[in-house]
Amino acid sequence: MTCIFCEIVRGNAPAFKVHEDDHTLTFMDIFPVSRGHALIIPKDHFENLFEANEESLARIVTRSLALAKAIRRVIAPDGLGVYQLNGAAAGQTVFHYHMHLIPRFKGGRLDLHSRVRGKDADLEAVSREIAAALEAG
Ligand code: 5GP
Ligand code: ZN
Repeated sequence: MTCIFCEIVRGNAPAFKVHEDDHTLTFMDIFPVSRGHALIIPKDHFENLFEANEESLARIVTRSLALAKAIRRVIAPDGLGVYQLNGAAAGQTVFHYHMHLIPRFKGGRLDLHSRVRGKDADLEAVSREIAAALEAG
């Protein structure tokens, strides 16, 4: 069974990338719950928290700090949800570990998933804005 996130890591599937290093990849969720909804993944495949090692987790958390600040600068949300689902019963739908960063607004719904695919032009634009904010530190 092929893993869509491994395919993205290998460059065999497209993604609107925001950041990449030796161990992690950050890209836009293709069904964004709100503008700026991003995912951070380890390049190595493991299914979820229960199969993770501490080093990989630490790298993801470290990336989440820089990404959170970049998203805050670009989107200026009222809040930022950081989520990570483990197992289908918890709502996990892609079985390659990932952390969601989702901008949230006062009075808004707290959905974790959307059924509406983002428009490529919007996803690309926001990925560039967040990447630029990351670069700027
Ligand atoms: P989970 O439900 O497993 O926590 O989250 C999986 C997320 O991956 C969902 O929010 C879904 O929209 C997103 N997703 C599923 N397939 C793709 C894809 O091919 N590309 C991107 N960028 N995101 C995807
Ligand atoms: Zn994978």
